[in-house]
Amino acid sequence: MLSYRHAFHAGNHADVLKHAVEVLLLDYLNQKEKPWWYIDTHAGAGVYSLTEGYATKNAEFETGIARIWQRNDLPTGLEKYVQLVKTLNAGQDHLMFYPGSPFVAQGLQRFDDKLRLFELHTSDAKLLADNFASVGKRAQVIHADGFASIKGVLPPPPRRSLMLIDPPYEDKHDYVRVVDTMKLALERFATGVYAIWYPQLARVEVKEMLDKLKKIPCKGWLHVSLTVQSPSLDGFGMHGSGMFVFNPPWTLASELDTIMPYLVKHLGLDSGARYTLEQQSA
Ligand code: SAM
Repeated sequence: MLSYRHAFHAGNHADVLKHAVEVLLLDYLNQKEKPWWYIDTHAGAGVYSLTEGYATKNAEFETGIARIWQRNDLPTGLEKYVQLVKTLNAGQDHLMFYPGSPFVAQGLQRFDDKLRLFELHTSDAKLLADNFASVGKRAQVIHADGFASIKGVLPPPPRRSLMLIDPPYEDKHDYVRVVDTMKLALERFATGVYAIWYPQLARVEVKEMLDKLKKIPCKGWLHVSLTVQSPSLDGFGMHGSGMFVFNPPWTLASELDTIMPYLVKHLGLDSGARYTLEQQSA
């Protein structure tokens, strides 16, 4: 039984980090004419209303995208991401909608690029299918377990791809499944780009997963994290998030070097706000 609904969190600091990195990765793939596939193992509903329904409950976007979307001092690496949000909210002076990861990918999709979007929750899969109904074969919404489905999409026919792995982690098996999925993914298609989002929580599974990811044989990885506040004393709640990227473009680290201090400055909530950036190549 799936209880997680991403709409509660739409546009929060974690979405800002995740989607800003997603834009940088697809933008890099767009530097060559050859098409790519974007594979989203946990796609969500695609687009979220910020003025009604779940997103208004805790209004998490107010300490996320709302803090930066109208700023005019953005670092270059954030401009395209913020422009996507602005386009979705064209003509509005306050935020009405937020793009989920499939919609972010669609914003960078060219004619021959394809989206493969997996979503297990029946309601969100239906919303996602409705949101992409007009796109035709360029986007396929698949109501299925994204972890279990990767064999069917790897290797992708054009031999270029970004796979985003973004599970809810409410079930602690997700941490193990991410590692197993990544091992299989790299065996089947070693040169794909893979981005894994994870929450910073006071849970041993987070550190165990990162340690295991770093040991998977590969050509290289990059790990970036954004902490927005000091961990709470009772150990509850998310104090930040991170992205672990296999086969990152060589430009990613330097782009993040300029973006991350900006995000710490504008999304940080207390003196514990900080970022880390590490990478390794074979
Ligand atoms: N990637 C989305 C974005 O950035 O806009 C958010 C995804 S949300 C964090 C996780 C989604 O995974 C939820 O919509 C949930 O219903 C779905 N989900 C949970 N387990 C799944 C599974 N095994 N396969 C596919 N989707 C799953």
